[in-house]
Amino acid sequence: MSSKQIITILGATGSIGVSTLDVLARYPERYEVFALTGASQLEKLAEQCVQFKPRYAVVLDASSAQQLSTMLKDHGSATEVLWGEAALSDVSTAREVDFVMAAIVGAAGMRPTLNAAKAGKRVLLANKETLVLAGALFMDAVRESGAVLLPIDSEHNAIYQVLPQAYRENPYADRLQNVGVKRILLTASGGPFRKMAAQDLVFVTPEQACKHPNWSMGRKISVDSASLMNKGLEVIEARWLFNAADKNDIAVIVHPQSVVHSMVEYMDGSVLAQLGNPDMRTPISYGLAYPERIEAGVKSLDFFSVGRLDFESPDLTRFPCLQLAFDALAAGGAAPAILNAANEVAVDGFLNKALRFTDIPVLIESVLEQCVATSSTESLEALLGADQAARQAARAWLQGHSC
Ligand code: NAD
Ligand code: MG
Repeated sequence: MSSKQIITILGATGSIGVSTLDVLARYPERYEVFALTGASQLEKLAEQCVQFKPRYAVVLDASSAQQLSTMLKDHGSATEVLWGEAALSDVSTAREVDFVMAAIVGAAGMRPTLNAAKAGKRVLLANKETLVLAGALFMDAVRESGAVLLPIDSEHNAIYQVLPQAYRENPYADRLQNVGVKRILLTASGGPFRKMAAQDLVFVTPEQACKHPNWSMGRKISVDSASLMNKGLEVIEARWLFNAADKNDIAVIVHPQSVVHSMVEYMDGSVLAQLGNPDMRTPISYGLAYPERIEAGVKSLDFFSVGRLDFESPDLTRFPCLQLAFDALAAGGAAPAILNAANEVAVDGFLNKALRFTDIPVLIESVLEQCVATSSTESLEALLGADQAARQAARAWLQGHSC
C-alpha cells in the first residue's frame, strides 16, 4: 500500500478502542491516528495520545478538556484537545480521515457514526446501537455517500466473511434469497447465566453479570450478553447490515464455546462458518485491512483444547430480552429505538444496583407499551425524540420501583 490510512477512533479508551490501538501499533507504516476520543479515563486517553500522537483528542466537556490539556502539556504532547458532541462529528468527517472506528457505547455513538457514513468514510462499526436506533437511515446514508461499511461485531464480521462478496458489499442491490442464502445463523454464547435456574437470576450481581465466560468487554455489553439483549440488538443489527428483511432470515443458536462466530446457510445445504478464538482483534484487523488480511496478534485456534462445539436453542422464558427484541424488530418504526433506550437506562440501573437483573426486561416491556403507540419515525429527529421519551419513561419506572 502506497500511502497511510488515516483513522479516527471514537471511544478509544474502551475495550474495542484499546484492541484497535493494539492492532494499529503493529503497523505504524500502514495507519496513522487522526483523532482519539473518550468520555472518561482521561489518564488513559493521555497515554494513548502520547503513544499514537493524534492531531486531536476529543472529550465530552470543557473541564475534562482542561484536565487533558494539562496532562498532555506535561508530556510535551502536541495533540490538540477538543470537546463536545459537535467535535466528535468534526473528527469523524474531516477531509483527511479515511477510516472511522465507531466504538462509543450506546446511542451516544449514533450521530458521529452517522456523520462518518454521510461523509463517505470507511466505517468500522462496533457501535451496534447506531443500527438499532436508526438502521434504515444509517444504511441509506451509507448507500448515498458510497461509504464502505465493515461490521466489527464478531458475529456480523463472521457473517460478512462468509456471504458472497458482491452481496456483502452492496446488500441492498439484491435479496439474500437471490444469492442462494437460506438464512443467517447468529451464534450466542448464552452468557454467564446460561445454566442458572430462573429463581436464582433474581439475585445476580453486576460483578457476576460482567464476568463473561469467553469475552472481555465493556460493562454495558457484558450485561447485555448476560440478559441476551445483546443478541436481540444483534438480530436487529444483522437485519440492517445484510438486508435480512424477512422474519425467517435470521435464526439465533446458542453456542457456549464462542468459537463459531456465526454462520450462513445456503440453499444447497452448505453451511459456511467463520471460526476463531474469541478475540476482537480478529474482526478489527479484518475491518482495517479489508480486503487484505494482516497479522492481528491473535493466537491460533487450538482445536484440541476446544475439544467440542455445542449448540442449543435459546431459552426465551428465562431470557425474555431476546423475545422483546424480536418483537420490536417485527413492530418496526421507533420500537427498536425505544427498546434500546429503555435497555440503556435499565442496564445503568442494574449496574448501579437500583434494579434487579430480572427487572431489566420488565422495565423495557413497560416502556415499550407506554411509548410505541405515540412514536412517529419519519426522521432522525423523530427517532431521537422517541429515544428521549423512552429514557424519561424508563427513569420514571425506575423511581417507582426502586429495589
Ligand atoms: P466500553 O464501555 O469499554 O467503551 C466505551 C467507549 O465509549 C469509551 O471510550 C468511553 O469513554 C466512550 N463513551 C462512553 N459514553 C460516551 C458518551 N456519552 N459520549 C462519548 N463517548 C462515550 O465499551 P466497549 O465494550 O468497547 O463497546 C463499544 C461498542 O462496541 C458498544 O456499542 C458495544 O456494543 C460494541 N461491541 C463491543 C464488543 C467488545 O468486545 N467489547 C464486541 C462487539 C461490539
Ligand atoms: Mg457480538
